[in-house]
Amino acid sequence: MTDAVVVGSGPNGLAAAVTLARHGLAVTVLEAAAEPGGGARSGEATLPGLLHDHCSAVHPFGVASPLLRSPDLARHGLAWAWPEVDLAHPLDGGDAAVAVRSVRESARALGPDADAWLRVFAGPSGHFDALAADALRPLLRVPRHPLRLARFGFDAVRPATLLARRWRTDRARALFAGAAAHAFQPLERPLTSAVGLLLLAAAHHRGWPVARGGSGRITDALAARLAELGGRVETGRAVRSLAELRPCPLVLLDVAPGAAADLCGEDLPPRVRRAYRRWRYGPAAFRIDFAVQGGVPWRHEDCRRAGTVHVGGTLEEIAHAERETARGRMPERPFVLVAQQYLADPGRSRGDVHPVYAYAHVPHGYDGDASGPVLGQLERFAPGFRERVLATATVPTPDLPRRNANLVGGDIGTGANTPLQTVLRPRAALDPYATGIPGVYLCSAATPPGAGVHGLCGLHAARSALRHLGIAPVD
Ligand SMILES: Cc1cc2nc3c(=O)[nH]c(=O)nc-3n(C[C@H](O)[C@H](O)[C@H](O)COP(=O)(O)OP(=O)(O)OC[C@H]3O[C@@H](n4cnc5c(N)ncnc54)[C@H](O)[C@@H]3O)c2cc1C
Repeated sequence: MTDAVVVGSGPNGLAAAVTLARHGLAVTVLEAAAEPGGGARSGEATLPGLLHDHCSAVHPFGVASPLLRSPDLARHGLAWAWPEVDLAHPLDGGDAAVAVRSVRESARALGPDADAWLRVFAGPSGHFDALAADALRPLLRVPRHPLRLARFGFDAVRPATLLARRWRTDRARALFAGAAAHAFQPLERPLTSAVGLLLLAAAHHRGWPVARGGSGRITDALAARLAELGGRVETGRAVRSLAELRPCPLVLLDVAPGAAADLCGEDLPPRVRRAYRRWRYGPAAFRIDFAVQGGVPWRHEDCRRAGTVHVGGTLEEIAHAERETARGRMPERPFVLVAQQYLADPGRSRGDVHPVYAYAHVPHGYDGDASGPVLGQLERFAPGFRERVLATATVPTPDLPRRNANLVGGDIGTGANTPLQTVLRPRAALDPYATGIPGVYLCSAATPPGAGVHGLCGLHAARSALRHLGIAPVD
């Protein structure tokens, strides 16, 4: 007998399933793909023996998530591993900015911008858990720490280009722009600072670690915890309609809002259906994995020690690239995120050959080949990179939604971070997880707090479902 079905086994689907199972419900997760995990999977891609993350690579919000930090998942093998330098951002001429866990050390390295960096980040990083308790959940709720949230909100609502005026040096401005670019939005838009502020505050709090043994270990640990609680995951089960799942009394959908509208059909109240259909998707990613002999020959030594490297040059260049992708044009010099997970987790390499991960920001639905621009950006800051590449595995943008229906048009965030969608996701409602159909909830990254491997959308959606069932959720 199944009390609840979860459609989709991404981190949010599994987090929802574990939360329901912890409260005594019998849960089945149905996953369309051949393996569970959605955005948290790993395996070979270039050469035998090299371990690559297929989607998510670095986990600032994962290590900060009360759900993923739980000792129950550690017991099932989830362990975080930190590089020496959390984030590096190279600039032309051999310079680079870095963010490490110590906010003071990071500030000091920014020279004339040290005090300004501390003024912005000392507070949010020092009280990160309190801030996250309010910011990483639906925003239409009474805050637990209203003053702290208000102080953060004062900076967060601004466009990243405006907040960046607090700093004078290219280093500090670029470091902030690279983090804000994770919003996949033009940096002149309101609220783009929120993403940059949260990511950098997280860097200065618990860092930007990787999952030891690959991001797939997050999925393995969640699935093992679910099994321990009596739940199960069935793969190769694409759900097309809610009717297939009836008479199950409780259904949680780890799917995009448009797919939820298709699945629920006429059962959805018309206003909710309209809102799900209006949901907008953002620019996309173009993924490349490399097998690199001896690692990336970055010009700047700090980049050679960094788990994540933001490749895009100055704030002005990144802002230009993000504007272009949002307009549907492929920039000549795209913003590229490079991850060197092996530095924190050496078991992913084979001798002196290392797995290196990259994705470029490209327009929504981009169907071209971005390999040239990605290599161009890497060569710019790491001359000689090409000669060290032994093998490459490319995932063109159209392959992303083919492998995971939530990645509409290659949008890895399951929805554009427009100002409206950042605050009211996936629609204006006191309970954003409720679909309006009794017993049916949305729990994907389209719900608060949004994209990232943290499982918090699933956790909050499951808690909402439990409350409607009259079960008081426990922590
Ligand atoms: C290339 C890439 C890089 C990323 N990098 C990072 C990173 O470094 N750090 C980070 O924190 N986050 C990163 N992310 C984002 C993160 O992976 C996602 O935000 C997160 O996985 C969202 O979790 P989810 O459970 O909402 O959905 P997903 O992880 O997308 O999982 C949804 C699952 O539902 C399944 N599904 C969909 N429809 C159906 C259906 N009808 N029937 C059955 N199953 C269905 C899909 O097959 C999929 O397995 C990245 C994402 C991508 C794609």
